[in-house]
Amino acid sequence: MRQSTLLLPTLKENPADADVISHRLMLRAGLIRQLASGLYTWLPLGLRVLRKIETIIREEMNISGAQEVLMPVVQPAELWQESGRWQKMGDEMLRMQDRHERDFCLGPTHEEVITDIFRREIHSYKQLPINFYQIQTKFRDERRPRFGVMRAREFMMKDAYSFHLDQASFDATYQEMYDCYSRILTRMQLTFRPVQADTGNIGGDNSHEFHVLASSGEDTIAYAAGGTYAANLEKATALAPSSAPAPAEDLERIDTPNEKTIDAISKRLNLPANRCVKTLVVKGNEGPVAIILRGDHELNEIKAAKLPNIVAPLTFADEKEIVASMGAHPGSLGPVNCKIDYLVDRDAAALADFVCGANEDAVHFTGANWHRDCALEDKQIVDARNVVEGDTAPDGKGTIEFLRGIEVGHIFQLDKAYSEPLEASVLDKEGTSQIPIMGCYGMGVTRLVAAVIEQNHDEDGILWPQPLTPYDLHIVALNPQKSTAVREAAEKLYADAIAAGLEVLLDDRDERPGVKFADADLIGIHQRLVVGDRGLKNDVVEYKLRHEASATEVSLVNVIDEVTAKLK
Ligand code: ATP
Ligand code: MG
Repeated sequence: MRQSTLLLPTLKENPADADVISHRLMLRAGLIRQLASGLYTWLPLGLRVLRKIETIIREEMNISGAQEVLMPVVQPAELWQESGRWQKMGDEMLRMQDRHERDFCLGPTHEEVITDIFRREIHSYKQLPINFYQIQTKFRDERRPRFGVMRAREFMMKDAYSFHLDQASFDATYQEMYDCYSRILTRMQLTFRPVQADTGNIGGDNSHEFHVLASSGEDTIAYAAGGTYAANLEKATALAPSSAPAPAEDLERIDTPNEKTIDAISKRLNLPANRCVKTLVVKGNEGPVAIILRGDHELNEIKAAKLPNIVAPLTFADEKEIVASMGAHPGSLGPVNCKIDYLVDRDAAALADFVCGANEDAVHFTGANWHRDCALEDKQIVDARNVVEGDTAPDGKGTIEFLRGIEVGHIFQLDKAYSEPLEASVLDKEGTSQIPIMGCYGMGVTRLVAAVIEQNHDEDGILWPQPLTPYDLHIVALNPQKSTAVREAAEKLYADAIAAGLEVLLDDRDERPGVKFADADLIGIHQRLVVGDRGLKNDVVEYKLRHEASATEVSLVNVIDEVTAKLK
């Protein structure tokens, strides 16, 4: 490809509304352009990278034994009514009507459609297990589209769905997908981490997210330094503390007219926050429920929403409800004389002689103890907090530390969440009808492009890893309009490289060398040749890998062989 004819609109300045580096560089390097919020056009250079990622994913999915299909973007409402998700999906699902006023949506995901295919086409246990995948456009009307293609409204996903007669078969495919995802991200030369993840309302332990590590990542990953544990903060748990020591203090009432926060009360009493407890009130199925945490800990809303009798998604009680049910305002609440059901986080339950609100405005207790003063029962003790750095991992091996991650993949067990309501079934060996269990495996194809850039850039631009570089080779001709020697040598190298099977971009533009170098660094093609008059006098060109600091001189005769060797 000749750069003089390629649509490659590079920008010198940082676009104003791009907050993360990958978004800035994708705009500046002319990979994408925004059409409207969360909607992007892929320009030629960006599309080449996207296609390379798709190819790697497709090759590895095929190796894993999955079968490629392509399902419609537009899906009829009836299918979503059958699964019960037409109502449940909320505003992320874009709905519309056709000319006959029938309801449709733009597919945010494809469980319903694939299960429909399954129930129509698959009838025997002999056809199982089976794993279908597609690489296709999704539409989700995200509340806050941001970071360019990282959280877009229209984006490309590789989604796969597997069907099984029994758990052992599911487990084998799940492991196969886990390995497949690891191979894909390794081939893309990404630094990544699989972590245990929340399963939403499906439950079970079979859920892993694959995170590309980057400071711009939206997720916090808790991993054990010196151990193997790793989980999304949403799901992460620490080693359970030992039980509370015996009481040493008496329960004492103190007036606290100005102390409504943990900070204020701990200052006033000169006690650390971890000797106080805080009381939050949330909605439960049978009225409000209090959740009590150690003063220095934060509630984990995902974990809390899964506790018995708690309304999901977690919803906090408003002040009126709190006063009506507890008899006091927030800031003076606590477990002693608590009039509603309450749950206590394990670490709060391990305290003795703690400070808490007295359920009476402007009054606290010191020296509180669970069994003596609150009659706490074991069934009220739960895990409801975010882990913090320094916690011991749940298996006792290593200390929790945090990293930021970009979620690029998620694999999990669906069980019968779709096969049951959609009445998918097969006949087993005995001729009995069986509902298959399902697995689901998503990967963010467009998001991956941004994730790669987050990990591969410097102040001048992108550093494409060799397997993803939009062109194998960038030939930069210096002043070709002035020098016949340069023009001819560059043209010959270009022709030879194409003949050798390389994908080549030739910068044949009539631009100053400075502009050409800046653009070359910005678009970040992995291998670069610079053809200039000075080198040609000695029959050499400058050869440089984008991530290396300095160039070497390579003889004109050998250079295409050398470039080709790098690709092997
Ligand atoms: P998130 O928590 O980031 O919203 P999700 O749980 O909604 O992700 P899945 O439904 O599991 O995501 O989708 C599979 C993959 O699709 C994700 O791992 C992610 O890489 C990608 N993905 C999801 N939403 C978007 C989006 N709005 N823009 C780009 N990629 C996305
Ligand atoms: Mg989402």
